[in-house]
Amino acid sequence: MAVRKVRCPQCGGEALWAPENPWRPFCSERCKQIDLGCWASDSYRIPVQEEDNDPGVDPDPTSRA
Ligand SMILES: [Zn+2]
Repeated sequence: MAVRKVRCPQCGGEALWAPENPWRPFCSERCKQIDLGCWASDSYRIPVQEEDNDPGVDPDPTSRA
């Protein structure tokens, strides 16, 4: 069974495209972590929209002691 090799998007090195490589298309866990860290940083930040809607939970003030 031939093992495909791809270029690691992070370091540009050879990455094994095989079930043995859970980090594919990266060559290693390190490269994947770097990429994920990049994603989590502000370079790919997705604006979080705060819901301003009240869900309607309105506890009855008369039931409070
Ligand atoms: Zn790499």
